[in-house]
Amino acid sequence: MGTAAERRQQLVELYREVRSCDRCPLADTRIQAVFGAGNANADLMFVGEAPGAQEDQQGIPFVGRAGKLLDELLAENGLARDDVFIANVLKSRPPGNRDPQPEEIDACKPYLYRQVELIEPTVICTLGNFATKLLTRSSTGITRLHGQPQEHQVGGRRVQIFPIFHPAAGLRTPSVKEKLREDFAKLPALLAAGPPQQEPSPVPETAEDAAEDASPAVDQLGLFG
Ligand code: URA
Repeated sequence: MGTAAERRQQLVELYREVRSCDRCPLADTRIQAVFGAGNANADLMFVGEAPGAQEDQQGIPFVGRAGKLLDELLAENGLARDDVFIANVLKSRPPGNRDPQPEEIDACKPYLYRQVELIEPTVICTLGNFATKLLTRSSTGITRLHGQPQEHQVGGRRVQIFPIFHPAAGLRTPSVKEKLREDFAKLPALLAAGPPQQEPSPVPETAEDAAEDASPAVDQLGLFG
């Protein structure tokens, strides 16, 4: 799909698009869209639900209490934010932190799929019900699915979806926090197993097609690691 530098530049272009997005009414109530942050070439992506008040203010995902727990769990497993990419199902804060609405998810999901296409992760860890149901395309909830990897096609790639409880649920309920910790501890082995087998990409038929497929050379703009 292009070199890491080319994919990163396309991610920067997507970032600009998301920051000025008005595909749903949340654009009128947010302070700013929260695109996501981290390593643009990460093997591991996390997908949460939607920005909360602090994320809306700072423009960075998971900076509140749930984010502190996420940082703690990453560190316990030898990982840091710079190693992973953290995004959300919705890029804009729902007022009062209410649940994302189906129309909002539909409007926003192409951005998430494109992020996956450009970052090319091996494992996508879905945090809680909204991300899990969207990326597994199933209505089965997190309580039944957590801690078990499932292979899926997302953003044109085969990836391991690894559903775990949302850190905010872990903060509310100690037994959930314990399960979250147990599930998190499975991530290093899952990453070490490497990417699922990819379907071969179609070979361009003519020189003209090949030229169209080639991405232009671009600068790094310093937004992502
Ligand atoms: N909860 C989420 O799901 N995402 C954030 O970015 C912060 C809290």
